[in-house]
Amino acid sequence: MFRRLVASPSAYFAGAAVLSLTIIALQFDLSIPSRPAGTVRDLALLRNRGDLNVVFILVDALRADRMSLYGYGRPTTPVIDELANRGIVFERVIAQSSWTKTSMASLWTGTYPATHGVLRFDHAIPQEATLPAEIFKAAGYRTVGIWRNGWVAPNFGFGQGFDTYYTPKAGADAQLQRHSPGAASIGGTDEDVLVAARDFLETFGREKFLLYLHLMDLHQYVFDDDADDFGPTYSDAYDKSIDWTDRVIGALVDALDAAGVLPRTLIAISSDHGEAFLEHGREGHAYDLYREVVEVPYLIIPPLILDRGIRVEQAIASVDIWPTLLDLVGLPPLPGADGRSMLPLVLAAGGASDASAAVESTRAVVSHLDRHWGGRGEAREWVALTDADARLIVPAGRPDSAEFYDWRTDPREAKNRAAEDPPQLQPMLERIDRYRRDSAPPWGVESPRIEVDELRLNQLRALGYRVGS
Ligand SMILES: [Zn+2]
Repeated sequence: MFRRLVASPSAYFAGAAVLSLTIIALQFDLSIPSRPAGTVRDLALLRNRGDLNVVFILVDALRADRMSLYGYGRPTTPVIDELANRGIVFERVIAQSSWTKTSMASLWTGTYPATHGVLRFDHAIPQEATLPAEIFKAAGYRTVGIWRNGWVAPNFGFGQGFDTYYTPKAGADAQLQRHSPGAASIGGTDEDVLVAARDFLETFGREKFLLYLHLMDLHQYVFDDDADDFGPTYSDAYDKSIDWTDRVIGALVDALDAAGVLPRTLIAISSDHGEAFLEHGREGHAYDLYREVVEVPYLIIPPLILDRGIRVEQAIASVDIWPTLLDLVGLPPLPGADGRSMLPLVLAAGGASDASAAVESTRAVVSHLDRHWGGRGEAREWVALTDADARLIVPAGRPDSAEFYDWRTDPREAKNRAAEDPPQLQPMLERIDRYRRDSAPPWGVESPRIEVDELRLNQLRALGYRVGS
C-alpha cells in the first residue's frame, strides 16, 4: 500500500535538496501568439482538418481543487490558468480510481475498472484491448509516449500503439533531487521529459503526431527555488510542486510554439488521481475513494484561441477523456468504451448548440479500488458512485458500511448520512451491484496477471508503494 515517503514534514525538509534548474530556464511568456483566433463553432470543425497533433500531458497525483484554475486560493497554476482562459475546462472530473494503474487503464481504454479488470499490481491490459495510440497509429500518426511512472510500463500493456514508449534518461540534475534519509525516490525529474519532448519535436515535429507525456515530479513533491513559498508543511510542499509543474508545462508549450506546431496541435491536461492530506485520516493516495483522491482536472487547449473560454459544469469521468479527444480530431471511437465524447457538452457550454440533451444529465460515474492491489491475498474492493449531487462509497459486499455524502451541502464529505437512509441510497446501491455483476471486457478476454520480477518491483517500490508481498 501507499505510504508517505518520509514520516513527517520536519524529516522531509531536513533531508530535502531543492531541485536546481540548469537545463532550462522556465521563464514562460504567457502570451502565446502562434495560434489563430476562433470560436466554439470552429471547434466542431476541427475534425475535418486532418492535420492535428495531440499532446496529452498527464500530471500524476494532481488534485483539481489545489489548482488556481479550479478556484484554489493560492496561485499554483498561473500558466495553465492563462492557457485555459481561452480554452476548454471541465469543472468536475472524477477519476476511476485513486491508484495509478487502475485509473490509467480506465483513462486509456475508456472503460470502468470492473470492465477492464486491471485491479492488482500484476494485472495488465491485454493485447486484445484497443488503446487510443493504436487508433492514432492506424491513422498515420507518429505515436510517442514518454513516462516516468512504472505503473504505466509497457509490460502492463500501456505501450500498445506507440511507435516509441520509454522513460527518458535522467539528466545532470538528477543528483540534486531531495534525498531524505529513508525516502524512496525514482531517478530523474520532469525536466528529462521536457528535454526528451524537445528532442522529439526537433526530429519529428513536421510529422503528424500523438505525444503522451507523463509527469511525476508532483508525485515526488519536487519543486525548485522559484516556487512560491507557501509554507513548511507537506501540504505546502505539494502546492509548491504544482507551481513547479505548472512552469514545466509552460516550457512544454513554449517548446511547441518554438517548433511552430501550436496552430495544429491540441493539448490536453489531466491526472490519474488526487492526493489526500488527512481529510479522511490518511495522507497520499491509493487507500480510499474520497473526493480528494478522485477529483482531477481535465482541460483542453485547442489549436485556436477561443473568443471566450468554455467551462463545462456537468460532471464527467476519466473514461470520457479519450472519447472526447478522438471525437475532436475526427478519429474513430474506442470500441466498447464506457466513456463517451463530451464534445456535445462543450459545444453547448460554448453556446453553439443546445446539445446538452445528448448527454444524460443524471449520469452516475464509478470509481473503484481494490485496496489489496499491492498484494496477492483476497480482494478488498471499494466502489464509489458519483451522481449529480451525491456520492456513495461502499466496500464490496458490505452495504451496511456504505457512506453517503450530499455534495450540495457537504462537498468535503465530512458527514456520512447513510444512517438517515436518504432516498437515493438504495438505487445507488443497486446501481453499484449491477456495475460489479454485469461488467465484462468488450475485447472478450480477462486482464492477464503477469510475472513482475524483483527488479521491476523495486522500481515500483521506489515510488513509495508497498507491493508484491
Ligand atoms: Zn499516479
